[in-house]
Amino acid sequence: MSSLGTRLDALHERIKLAAAAAGRPAGAVRLIAVSKTVPYEQMLVAYRLGLRDFAESYVQEALPKLAALAHCDITWHFIGPIQSNKTRPIAERFHWAHSVDRLKIAERLHEQRPHGMPPLNICLQVNVSGEPTKAGVTLDALPQLTEAIAPLSNLRLRGLMAIPAPGQSPDAQRAAFRCLREALLGLNLPGLDTLSIGMSDDLEAAIMEGATLLRIGTALFGPRQAGSTPTATSSQHRAPVS
Ligand SMILES: *Cc1c(COP(=O)(O)O)cnc(C)c1O
Repeated sequence: MSSLGTRLDALHERIKLAAAAAGRPAGAVRLIAVSKTVPYEQMLVAYRLGLRDFAESYVQEALPKLAALAHCDITWHFIGPIQSNKTRPIAERFHWAHSVDRLKIAERLHEQRPHGMPPLNICLQVNVSGEPTKAGVTLDALPQLTEAIAPLSNLRLRGLMAIPAPGQSPDAQRAAFRCLREALLGLNLPGLDTLSIGMSDDLEAAIMEGATLLRIGTALFGPRQAGSTPTATSSQHRAPVS
């Protein structure tokens, strides 16, 4: 079996165990393959192994891969920082955007979503760690942003996303995720069914706290090259590693 196949098996096992420990059905958690820096040939291998959800962080890098894989039945997720001059291809080509954190971006995605396409699914990225350099709306500002976005009919607000500070203990990871889950419940809007939390190093904590979408890169495709770590910060001008 390919190393990707071996990693995917191990990942499914981790998810199964964590879901069982959380008393949740394994099917309640959807696995998204984070394919930034991964060549499309490797994505095709993952596709043939059954993966149907792929996430990209950089528009420039994503577009040729979307074209190369246009014949595949893939749900495309955008998870990187969203610059306002990059909203159009996201609105036109993706099914989900997880990293919406201000009204201006939401309005542009709404306006640019083509007629005849279903609404773009969005999550609001929340800065759960309260780090000043991090992207994401603060918990305080979340209700107001949600209210402003709710009427935008070409968007379907599904839930919240977070990227906690790396290198924390499992307890700290869970505390951050719990904050997010409570914030989601507190919004008290219909149709909010999504917690986009859980990466390679914290998926167990995320599943314990109600993750519905896991965004997994390293545990699936292996280590990325240096400089292509998760796009947690708002350093929007960092170029993708080629
Ligand atoms: C890169 C990235 C991931 C995947 O991280 P891994 O630790 O490799 O699983 C998840 N979410 C976002 C937003 C990322 O940028």
